[in-house]
Amino acid sequence: MVGQSTSIQSFFSTRTSPTKVIPPESSPVPGDGFTAEELDNALLPVRQDNWTPRIVYDEYEIDALMFGLNRVKIVGRLVNMFESSHTTKLPKGLGGSVHLVVKDDTGAVTIRLSYTLPPTELRLGRLVAVWATYVANGDRGSFPCAVAPLYIKIFPEKDKSCRIRVLEGAEFANLCRKPLNYQPTLMSLKAFARGGSEVIDAKILVVVKSVSARKRVTKKDGTEAYVTRVVLMDDTEEATLSLWDTTSTTPNDWQPSHTALLISSPSLNVSHKNWLALASDTFVDVDPCIPEAERLRGFAGRKVKREHINPTFPYEEYALWSIIKPNERVLYSLADVDDRARETPGETFEGYLSMIIMDLNMTTLRQQNMLMCNECCGIPIYANAKVAKCKHCDSQVSLRVNPRLIGKLVDESGCITSGKLVLSDHAWTRLLGRSAQELIESSASTLKSVEHRMLHIRITLRFWWSEEVGKLVISEVLE
Ligand SMILES: [Zn+2]
Repeated sequence: MVGQSTSIQSFFSTRTSPTKVIPPESSPVPGDGFTAEELDNALLPVRQDNWTPRIVYDEYEIDALMFGLNRVKIVGRLVNMFESSHTTKLPKGLGGSVHLVVKDDTGAVTIRLSYTLPPTELRLGRLVAVWATYVANGDRGSFPCAVAPLYIKIFPEKDKSCRIRVLEGAEFANLCRKPLNYQPTLMSLKAFARGGSEVIDAKILVVVKSVSARKRVTKKDGTEAYVTRVVLMDDTEEATLSLWDTTSTTPNDWQPSHTALLISSPSLNVSHKNWLALASDTFVDVDPCIPEAERLRGFAGRKVKREHINPTFPYEEYALWSIIKPNERVLYSLADVDDRARETPGETFEGYLSMIIMDLNMTTLRQQNMLMCNECCGIPIYANAKVAKCKHCDSQVSLRVNPRLIGKLVDESGCITSGKLVLSDHAWTRLLGRSAQELIESSASTLKSVEHRMLHIRITLRFWWSEEVGKLVISEVLE
């Protein structure tokens, strides 16, 4: 099983002379039409991992490791990664080195991995197996990670007796997910941002809300670096976590409104509101095995659904309800709908509304290239097209008519503001007198005249209210 997994070694070709190392100037420049991930994949050799241990290694739980042990194997998850100081001069032929903090259910240990080519498959939360020949004590001299005091140095490309291998597959999914010294007294994001970051060993539990595209930026000191920004949330607040260089590819494994992170001792940037980063003593437990994570995921799912810029029409739920619905046709006012939804929460009902269109945004949205929209990876996507590419995951996302196209609707009892309705595709076509495709293809002057025609006319809408959907659903538009 282990043999099928990938390892760092498999990404390196054998080099006979360090002078053959390709200078960084010749690497492809960004913006040549390929994403960073495509470039990484194309530039790396085919994954092959034929390494088998030639000597016997004893497998240890991490808290059983001791200074001076020889030939050990450990299995754990990556809870932190950071590059070794850029100021120290690297030996010839060495591309760099990275500190990995590996944690199992018993303890944590620091691994210093030296490489000639950066190990792109190492990401926070991934399970790794490490074979090493010696365990050192990190207490002496300057040591970067005080929370994981034992220290293992490996350089798999040079030393064939050590190795690091990512373990993937269903059989490994639940291994090493128990947080260390866990007590369910977590700090809320709000408390953390308002002074709680001063508390030693502060722990926050958050869910990933959205992930930005990975960008190359120039830092204050003039050096360039990759960064991915991840928006995190709990039930009190939101925050942005910046993941730099070695950790910037990690969020490719994360799923918005599902991936939970238990972060111990993150650093808080005081100059930006709620900006978090990883410090050398930070631990990030990805999808920790604790009941609070499940509860928070449920909360995040509901919140994200409520805040979605363009929720899907609930075709399935509506079809199920249509089978059992009472045979009645009632004309409501907006105030009636509001009263009924509040008086009998949980009740699902259907009726008709007679509304006047007060405002339309067709020409403005066309100009702003925002006629259609959807979300992917928690990020809004707008375009005057039926599909668009997600900047983070590069997948083609199908777009629906932007609900903000309807500005404001009023009746005698109240009004509905922009973007609050969920229309079926059929209802959109009926309302606009054209399909989504025809809407995109319409010229500015055509849309202007459509707007003029529709403004201040009275329309009858068949609506459906269900607490689970949480928005007024329009299934039909009548003259
Ligand atoms: Zn995406």
